[in-house]
Amino acid sequence: MFFDPLYLILALPGIVLTLWAQWKVNSTYSNFARVRNARGVTGVQAAEILIRQVGLQGQVQIQGTPGKLTDHYDPRNRTLFLSAEVAQNPSVAAVGIAAHELGHALQHSQNYGPLNFRMAIVPIVNLGSKLGYIVFFLGLCLVTQANVNPIVMWLGILLLSGMALFALVTLPVEFDASKRAMQMLQASGLMQPQELQGAQQVLGAAAWTYVAAAASTLLNLLYYVALANRASRR
Ligand SMILES: [Zn+2]
Repeated sequence: MFFDPLYLILALPGIVLTLWAQWKVNSTYSNFARVRNARGVTGVQAAEILIRQVGLQGQVQIQGTPGKLTDHYDPRNRTLFLSAEVAQNPSVAAVGIAAHELGHALQHSQNYGPLNFRMAIVPIVNLGSKLGYIVFFLGLCLVTQANVNPIVMWLGILLLSGMALFALVTLPVEFDASKRAMQMLQASGLMQPQELQGAQQVLGAAAWTYVAAAASTLLNLLYYVALANRASRR
């Protein structure tokens, strides 16, 4: 297939938003990774203190993970995976990020609906992302080359839409984890008011990467819907 200008028109806003969000999170993180918090607590120490304060001791593990800004919570083993910088540095950014990951653990322990829903759809989304493009292009060939009913093509789109659904439901999960993080930090007395503001800025910047991912995924889906419509109209 040759280059399609429609693809550029639909993909460009997502690409621009993604690049901007990445720049934003990297620069905000770098700023607040250099600001030492007054208590001198590292990400691991903050996580341990907060785990005790919210009553999750013995229910949540903490482990290291390679890379930068790779911090995440894995519900399968109820583990906070913290990057070395977050785990070991006593910075404002480290404490904010550790608290955010613990926010996910708190969601998990309280059966937060959007997190449960996201966990439940993972197998379907994985299958859809592997098979969706193959089924779609097979269906597209059948429609355009053999004039067959477009049902296979639309089945491909249905499979691809799982990724968009996942990216969309990620938004409330991430916003809520940051909200819980800020509430935990406020209640903990670990941070001073202006440090709380710094942590909020880091988490706010990180949220934009999820908004960008959702926008990109939706625009990508829209492109395949447009291709399908175009093929159906022939
Ligand atoms: Zn998160």
